[in-house]
Amino acid sequence: MQTRNLIGGEWVGADSGREIQVRNPATDEVVAMAPDCGAEETRRAIESAAQALPGWSRQTAGDRGRVLRRLADAMLRDQERLARLMTLEQGKPLGEARGEIAYAASFIDWAAEEGKRLYGEVVPSSSPGKRILTLRQPVGVTAAITPWNFPAAMITRKLGPALACGCTMVVKPAEQTPLSAIALGELALEAGLPAGCFNIVTGDAKAIGGEIFRHPAVRKVSFTGSTEVGKILMKMASENVTRLSLELGGHAPFIVFEDADLDAAVEGALATKFRNAGQTCICANRIYVHAGVKEEFVRRLSGAMEGLKVGPGDAEGVRVGPLIDDDAMRKVRAHVEDAQGRGARVVCGGRPVDLGSGFAKRFYAPTLLDGFTDEMLVSREETFGPVAPVRSFETEEEVVRMANDSPFGLAAYFYTRDASRLMRVAEALDYGIVGANDALPSTAQAPFGGVKQSGFGREGGRQGMQEYTTVKYVSWGI
Ligand code: NAP
Repeated sequence: MQTRNLIGGEWVGADSGREIQVRNPATDEVVAMAPDCGAEETRRAIESAAQALPGWSRQTAGDRGRVLRRLADAMLRDQERLARLMTLEQGKPLGEARGEIAYAASFIDWAAEEGKRLYGEVVPSSSPGKRILTLRQPVGVTAAITPWNFPAAMITRKLGPALACGCTMVVKPAEQTPLSAIALGELALEAGLPAGCFNIVTGDAKAIGGEIFRHPAVRKVSFTGSTEVGKILMKMASENVTRLSLELGGHAPFIVFEDADLDAAVEGALATKFRNAGQTCICANRIYVHAGVKEEFVRRLSGAMEGLKVGPGDAEGVRVGPLIDDDAMRKVRAHVEDAQGRGARVVCGGRPVDLGSGFAKRFYAPTLLDGFTDEMLVSREETFGPVAPVRSFETEEEVVRMANDSPFGLAAYFYTRDASRLMRVAEALDYGIVGANDALPSTAQAPFGGVKQSGFGREGGRQGMQEYTTVKYVSWGI
């Protein structure tokens, strides 16, 4: 499959003619080629976005919303095709890919409506001869740099609000997953989005990123990816004082109190830990279970994990697909070996799964490690794989302290039936998102984002829209 980039409404290749290979993570086969673009193509994309800006931002929110709704509808119409494309390039089970397309469309659909509610204010003045008005205006040309783990949703979570607010955008998808982005571009044109409002550039991350931060027309960059790259971009943003949102890595604690509904907690742990083979920024990385129920929890969770079928994402019944690449596999193996070497017990899994010839060696068995400790790699770094480390705790105070002992602060989860504890612990957890008796908190209406080294800025909800507006204050002498 040959693909092109979208610049100024035209489908184009790289100036050099060079291409990057897109591989199926399950088989390592090359399934498509995408343009290997750099700074020059990015400059043209930014300039197309700048040209399209006045026309798009002048449209009414209702007119913009109609285009966005057509895009969301087209995504749902083509859900099966888009899901299959996503599984091909990313590896996740088809059922999850279908879910991601619906979830990705929900950001576009929700922003289409919310764009109509970007209210300003008339503020009571301290002087009889003045009136004070605040206006919410589009930021301008924006750029998005996105990761491979949610190839569609990490784009639409930025694109929907940006377009709804009247901004235009240049998107640089991850090298491994350009196909979902390109398919979104095709549907956006079909939906009637004017040329230049949404541009897609694939290729050399450093060259594309360098141009995004160098070009003065770019007024805001939204990045989702690793904390390591986020820190580099933060330095680059200082050049033009470019506004930033950073959705970075996480290290989620998952706490099960002694009064929890254990079945719900097991179901929640399974959902948050093994979705996308554990390759999500909000998946549980450290599971703390009260000593009084730990044995029972481990028994039920390992029992439930036995039923998780490992295999290629397009095979029937598969719940855990391949890891994205060989580096990811090495990291998972290193984390499990390190934990074992330091005394953790492998309750189940703890080994790669060999699917035989024709398949890449990137499948890892769902693994439960009992007795993780602070010095283990699993306690400090994102494993980004299907590994669930568990340990026990005695008191609420102790577990909140352990949960907060991390440089990351994206998502945290806990299960309890005590309403007072629910509020107390939700307030005490130093995280941007708290799932209280809920392992799947992300939704278009809610402000997703982190604290500490998990970044800043919010995506989704009213707050996610405001990221794409600037408040202007008009002091009006009368
Ligand atoms: P990554 O390596 O940081 O890459 C993310 C994006 O940044 C890719 O498009 C990548 O391009 C690009 N990039 C890399 N170096 C760059 C540079 N010097 N200048 C400009 N762009 C650059 O992250 P990843 O491995 O794709 O994704 C996994 C990470 O994302 C995990 O840490 C995960 O927790 C985090 N994540 C966070 C959230 C959230 O909402 N907080 C959501 C999903 C994922 P190439 O692909 O071309 O290298």
